[in-house]
Amino acid sequence: MRTYSKNQHNLSREQFSPASRTIIQQLKDHGYEAYVVGGAIRDLLLNKTPKDFDVVTSATPEQIKSVFRRRCRLIGRRFRLAHVYIDRDLIEVATFRSASSDDTENSGDRLIRNGQIIRDNVYGRIDQDALRRDFTANALYFDPDEETILDFVNGYKDIGARTLNLIGEPVRRFTEDPVRMLRAVRFAVKLGLQLQPDCAAAIAPNAHCLGNVAPARLFDELIKIFHSGYAEDAFALLREHALFAQLFPEVERIMEEKSEYETLFRTAFANTDKRIAAGKPVTPVFLFSVLLWPQAEQLFRQHRHNGLPEFDAMNLAATQVFEEQRENIFVPRVIQAGIRHIWVLQLRFLRNRGKRVFSTLAHPRFRAAYDFLLLRQIIQPELADLAQWWTKIQEVSPEEKREMIFGGGEKKSRRRRRRKKPAGS
Ligand code: ATP
Ligand code: MG
Repeated sequence: MRTYSKNQHNLSREQFSPASRTIIQQLKDHGYEAYVVGGAIRDLLLNKTPKDFDVVTSATPEQIKSVFRRRCRLIGRRFRLAHVYIDRDLIEVATFRSASSDDTENSGDRLIRNGQIIRDNVYGRIDQDALRRDFTANALYFDPDEETILDFVNGYKDIGARTLNLIGEPVRRFTEDPVRMLRAVRFAVKLGLQLQPDCAAAIAPNAHCLGNVAPARLFDELIKIFHSGYAEDAFALLREHALFAQLFPEVERIMEEKSEYETLFRTAFANTDKRIAAGKPVTPVFLFSVLLWPQAEQLFRQHRHNGLPEFDAMNLAATQVFEEQRENIFVPRVIQAGIRHIWVLQLRFLRNRGKRVFSTLAHPRFRAAYDFLLLRQIIQPELADLAQWWTKIQEVSPEEKREMIFGGGEKKSRRRRRRKKPAGS
């Protein structure tokens, strides 16, 4: 173990959130060891702003509960930990864990099935806790009293060298928890770290292990990757390491045939990254409506070819895409509904005459669907006029709007006559 003092690492306790320091102090007052761990230290050493401050302690979840009582909630089965609320801040407090189930000193339970960790609740010492973490850069401990960093895995030097290095043997660590492959991609792009070569080489051959991960967890992790602010780079890395093909096999297959979809994705992700950099909101609905579009569009074309009316063809395509996706990545129902609207609105955009234009403009998903149309026209130039029309209609005065929608007087009167006929007969 190496200890780095303040004059070596330059971090000071003030850079850590008051809530995390209060919690550490209280745990120490009760006789437990406690540190800030993981992402926050890594980010501060890289001059980035930490997203949150995770605390780790020798106290078991029950002991943490008895220290913080009403301010503490125990969560998680796979990985049991405590949520502690201080003022308006929420801090995750975990207990030191050991990776070795044969260590009789330890209590708790651990379940491994086909090499994959199902439950990981065997508690241990700090040195054991360091070894069960994923990357060396994520296994540093900060003691706010001493202002020292404790390093059991050479993480400090790896961060200095801008390297993302897995702790232990890559194949075993990726099998234990395949999500670590996705975390590798996310940390590499977000923090500008280089994947250590043995670790990088182990990803593609083990990508298939992602098939064993709970679909809901994959959905969450994908949101984290694509909303990290580095979606464009992440997409390239996911493809390079065969992870994209594992997660979206159909989309990958279609993309290999029609490379314009790759352009669509790159443009979409570059836009997402720009929005995040500008502090604008991004939504999983838009993200997944893009990611699943190649598959949806292909099915839509097939159904049209077989004679189904437009809207039925699109709705059926959407249903089929979601059905297939469910086994793999769980897209929550509310998000599915939003995606369906965006896709169906692509058809409504084709109808830019008459009153229905107003209801299209007023649709809650109009904005997202319009952005989606702008994206599509990049690879389908024949949509450019239509996209321009929908841009213009949002900008003009109410009179011009009516003119655009109802056209010249001649057409208007013809429409009126047609409508009146059945009413009068
Ligand atoms: P960020 O919060 O910025 O995404 P983080 O490193 O804090 O990054 P968390 O998911 O909050 O990531 O996890 C906190 C710490 O727990 C990590 O730094 C790492 O040490 C450990 N950890 C998280 N997930 C895993 C995993 N799947 N396998 C091993 N260790 C993990
Ligand atoms: Mg964190």
